[in-house]
Amino acid sequence: MVKLLDLQKITMSHGGEIKAAVNRVIESGWFLLGRETAAFEAAYASYTGTEHCVAVANGLDALYLILRGYMELGLIEEGDEIIVPANTYIATILAITRNKLVPVLVEPTWDNLEIDIDKIEDHITRKTRGIMIVHLYGRIAYGDKLKDICRRYGLLLMEDCAQSHGCAWKGVKTGALGDAAAHSFYPGKNLGALGDAGAVTTSNAELASVIRALANYGSQKKYVFRYIGVNSRMSEIDAAVLAVKLKYLDEDNRARQKLADFYYSSIHNPLVTMPLRIPDENNVYHQFPVFCGRRDELHSFLDSCGIQTLIHYPVPPHKQECYKTWNGLCFPVTERIHDEELSLPMNQAVSPEEAEEVVRAINSFR
Ligand SMILES: *Cc1c(COP(=O)(O)O)cnc(C)c1O
Repeated sequence: MVKLLDLQKITMSHGGEIKAAVNRVIESGWFLLGRETAAFEAAYASYTGTEHCVAVANGLDALYLILRGYMELGLIEEGDEIIVPANTYIATILAITRNKLVPVLVEPTWDNLEIDIDKIEDHITRKTRGIMIVHLYGRIAYGDKLKDICRRYGLLLMEDCAQSHGCAWKGVKTGALGDAAAHSFYPGKNLGALGDAGAVTTSNAELASVIRALANYGSQKKYVFRYIGVNSRMSEIDAAVLAVKLKYLDEDNRARQKLADFYYSSIHNPLVTMPLRIPDENNVYHQFPVFCGRRDELHSFLDSCGIQTLIHYPVPPHKQECYKTWNGLCFPVTERIHDEELSLPMNQAVSPEEAEEVVRAINSFR
């Protein structure tokens, strides 16, 4: 069977080093806000090319805390609008509504699957304070035109980098393209921890300091609380593990790109389309989405061939029960993506033989 994601194989490929890191923390007797977290923060800030990295408990918290931080700094107020792609994962939207801000959903393009930059200006109002781009599937969601829009309208640019570790645009890494960025180290991401973990990167010292306090009960000084904060910390064990895995991220991403190259050159089936190919620097292939009008049949056919695939995602945010008031809204491109998308096995643990099995099965679907 070809697994969608073999986390055991991925973890054990650096098993010795990971176990040594975990052991070091156990033996140190220090489990939160210590040396390992500080070391990972420094390494990840340097990797992304930002001044500051604040380690937090998960990606959703990172997104939430960026917005919360800007609210504490007075740059965003309750009721303000944040532009966001309609086809993102629910977490991006949750971070906005949890801060009592208003998400303004914008369609992606069918070719690129990322927010349609040409449609952003139509959605800017007096209340728009920022744009939250999402580098979904590991593809870049940035461009000169977006930069220009933010500058002309004085908008904050925030990035959801949960799926884009290592992805760059003209040599600048995602996480350093906007004013602040949220990263998730959920185990299945390109850079994954042994449990939940996340981070914020920014080159804004004031924002970093507010977020650091907010994530630690709102405190900058022990038992003195400046903000109404939360508890959102990364464990020392995960910081130590992530520091090990960060060293191999570029190599792992290259393996994904090589696999994508194989898929692009070998999948030939008129019923199955692949997304527009963009340069590898701009795509770290968190997922490899393909599209099929008979997606559910393709899904079960591949399953019967012993190939695991998964839909990212079956229901868009505006059709979810938790956002009932949006259920009547219509986003045709978003809805088509959700109706036709299927993600193929895509990671460094997929062997060449397994990749061939995947291609053979897809090409034989009728
Ligand atoms: C995974 C993910 C998140 C949330 O990260 P968690 O660490 O699971 O909270 C946010 N946005 C996107 C696009 C994601 O894929």
